Amino acid sequence: MIELTNIEKRFGDNVVLKDVSVDMPEGTVTALVGPSGGGKSTLLRCVNLLEIPTSGSVHIGDEVLTFSPGVRVRWVDIQRLRRQTGMVFQNFQLFPHRTAVENVMEGLVTVLRWPAERARARAMELLEKVGMVHKADAWPATLSGGQQQRVAIARALAPSPRVLLCDEPTSALDPELAEEVVDVLGRLAREGTTMMMATHDLRLASRVADKVVFLDGGSIVESGPPGKIFSQPERERTKRFIASLN
Ligand code: ATP
Ligand code: MG
Repeated sequence: MIELTNIEKRFGDNVVLKDVSVDMPEGTVTALVGPSGGGKSTLLRCVNLLEIPTSGSVHIGDEVLTFSPGVRVRWVDIQRLRRQTGMVFQNFQLFPHRTAVENVMEGLVTVLRWPAERARARAMELLEKVGMVHKADAWPATLSGGQQQRVAIARALAPSPRVLLCDEPTSALDPELAEEVVDVLGRLAREGTTMMMATHDLRLASRVADKVVFLDGGSIVESGPPGKIFSQPERERTKRFIASLN
């Protein structure tokens, strides 16, 4: 189980997340949707501790960390929790001077100290999973955006994280290339990968999410299965947002 409990995040006086709690059972996909500035990226960054929550707790598998204002968190504890997560960004962020397979191997070799041969075998398995084995030796600049994103997904999955975090994974892509990425994420979801993704792409959310969380102004307005949130939202705020997308 992955659990975020009463997460608050402030930047100075600006309260960006207010009392946000989300449960993610293993093997489920949670989509964060809502207006720009609502706090989706910040919430994802609080899960992998790229941002340290002001208060609340983050529980991933057997690891749990609780945050309080003014209390410093130990770096080793942050690292321990962060290693349970993998992250995929809107702009792929592959290492430009590494081939596709080297990108996927990188963390295994430098962080986990795997021997190169074992890392390469694992990387090839993951490239196979995302349909990119044929481009294993290609440089990122020679790949389409959709291909780069598929390599980035393989790289994020390489150390077997308990949760894959995706921030707008299809937003930088043309519809056709976005479709490739939606297909890959859909396949991972069916195979039981636990994921949390921020997205404006309702087709992505409808196809892969078990639960949609609508965030506005740093608070959860409502949450539920995609069919419910997208077709029969209860709150006025959610209705207006969904209507604005159509
Ligand atoms: P978008 O849909 O545009 O990606 P979002 O829902 O991901 O938006 P966030 O990026 O999480 O929203 O931003 C939420 C709020 O937090 C915004 O008001 C933003 O200005 C603020 N914020 C985010 N990061 C920082 C930071 N490092 N310092 C100060 N304020 C920040
Ligand atoms: Mg964002």
